[in-house]
Amino acid sequence: MSIARNIEKIKSELPSYVKLVAVSKTKPEEDIMQAYNAGHKIFGENKVQDLVKKYENLPKDTEWHFIGHLQSNKVKYIAPFVYLIHAVDSFKLLKIINKEGKKNNRIINCLLQMHIAKEDTKFGLSFEEIKDILSSEEISSLNYVNISGLMGMATNTKDLQQVRKEFAYLKSCFDDIKKDFFPDKDDFNVLSSGMSGDYKIAVEEGSNTVRIGSLIFGARN
Ligand SMILES: *Cc1c(COP(=O)(O)O)cnc(C)c1O
Repeated sequence: MSIARNIEKIKSELPSYVKLVAVSKTKPEEDIMQAYNAGHKIFGENKVQDLVKKYENLPKDTEWHFIGHLQSNKVKYIAPFVYLIHAVDSFKLLKIINKEGKKNNRIINCLLQMHIAKEDTKFGLSFEEIKDILSSEEISSLNYVNISGLMGMATNTKDLQQVRKEFAYLKSCFDDIKKDFFPDKDDFNVLSSGMSGDYKIAVEEGSNTVRIGSLIFGARN
């Protein structure tokens, strides 16, 4: 099937409120343009160098999401244009994004990445750590970041009950944080969870932003 058809099929099956981030990491610009020409303009990358190159070469009305682990010293390269940083996994990183946002005179949308999987290889904050960050005095001085929600990755397992449990836990934490820290902030509203193998479960458990790569562009090497 073509890239355009794959996107069309996934979109037709997603509820209309769910945003599809087409994860184009490792894929050539031609593949992205196939999706773009079919009307899809939201893409996710996980390497700073690749994202910058694609941003420079591709149409400027593309919405670029950074979905991977972001090193502090590389924030400056994407700060001028990135639409949403999905995986903020430390207070330090958040402060650096704020600094780079200030330099560029733009407010950068960020999600806090929560660790929900059983594997300890994946990055992410605990619920307690997120609450500590949001309760800190310093947070209110970060005027150049917009914390717009949470992101999580479930365990890579065939045990779908486990995956469902993790997504449900993420949603319950999202709801608690919304209630306790952002009751009046309408744009704390993004729950980014679900990939090619588990996005349907993620949506059933409250996700409104899915990050799908291989199902659209084919397997990666
Ligand atoms: C690669 C990646 C995805 C997409 O994975 P697929 O299984 O190809 O859909 C989603 N989220 C993150 C953080 C990724 O690194």
